[in-house]
Order: sequence, then structure tokens, then C-alpha cells
Amino acid sequence: MNFIYIFDLDNTIYGKLEKFNYDKIQCDHKLIIMLDNIPNNKYIFTNGTYEHAVKVLKIMNIYDKFKKIFARDTITYIKPNIGSYIHVQNNIIDLEKNYIKDITKLRFIFFDDLLENLIPARYLKWKTVLISDYPVNNYDIEDFHDIEYVFVNINNALSYFYNLNNYIMNINHNSLI
Ligand SMILES: [Mg+2]
Repeated sequence: MNFIYIFDLDNTIYGKLEKFNYDKIQCDHKLIIMLDNIPNNKYIFTNGTYEHAVKVLKIMNIYDKFKKIFARDTITYIKPNIGSYIHVQNNIIDLEKNYIKDITKLRFIFFDDLLENLIPARYLKWKTVLISDYPVNNYDIEDFHDIEYVFVNINNALSYFYNLNNYIMNINHNSLI
């Protein structure tokens, strides 16, 4: 199974800011290490512009960690329009088929801080990860049908998947012996 990691940018990657300003964005060393530790290919899927995404990622020193940026001005639709997810999925499959033997084994994990952005992802059978420190009891429980994981920030989420990856790799390794 080949997991592809897809990230929203604003709030999901750099966290919540009271009032947006590029000067407030900080380089997060833990995030750099987490992204490096996870060998899977990573993509950005944002409703912001391409230029904004590049600027933020460069400030955070993580621009080179992502294979491609899908932004509001580089694709036809924006989230949560299902058309944008289908575009992203098809485009990634096109890119990845050069490296992966069996493309049917490709799976997508999507991290976003808005619940409504995760619903179309779930419809396409992507794994859905909500990044939110908003109190869970403020949500309607019905809303959570499309959410598989919730983490308060991206580092906690990546740390979980890093451990899960290792665990699965160990199981696979042990079962070969
Ligand atoms: Mg966001």
C-alpha cells in the first residue's frame, strides 16, 4: 500500500493566527523533522493562491518537502467542490504512476482544518484527518461521519502516522521471517 499525503495549507500547516501576516509565520523545526521522517510523497491542496503557498512554505523552510502544490489559481475548482478533489487525485495518479508498479494500491490521506473540506475527500475514499483545536463537543456528532481522525495540530497527526507506519512496517517485516 502506498500512502500519498495531501495537506491543506492555512491553519492546517502553520496553525491558527489571530490576524494573518507573513511575519507571524514561524519555521517549525519539529514539523521539518516530521515531514522528513515520513517517506511518503506529499502534496499541498489549498484554496489559497499558488504564490501564497510558495511564500508560506518557504518561510517555514518546508517548500522542498512537497512534490506539487495544487492552488486556487492552478486548478479549476476549489474545495469543497468535488471537482477539485477529482482533479488533484487524477493529477497525482498521473505523476505517481511513473514510480509505483501497482497504481491500484495508491491511497490518499488528507489533512484539513475544515470539516466540510473533508467530506468530498471521504466520498472519494481518501483517509480524512481533521486538524482542529476547536472543542469537539461544539460539533454536531452527525458531522463526524466523514472524519476518521482528529488531531489538535499537524505535528500530533504526523507523529501518529509516523508511529503507525513503523508499526505496520514491523508487522510486515516480522511476518516475512
Ligand atoms: Mg485551512
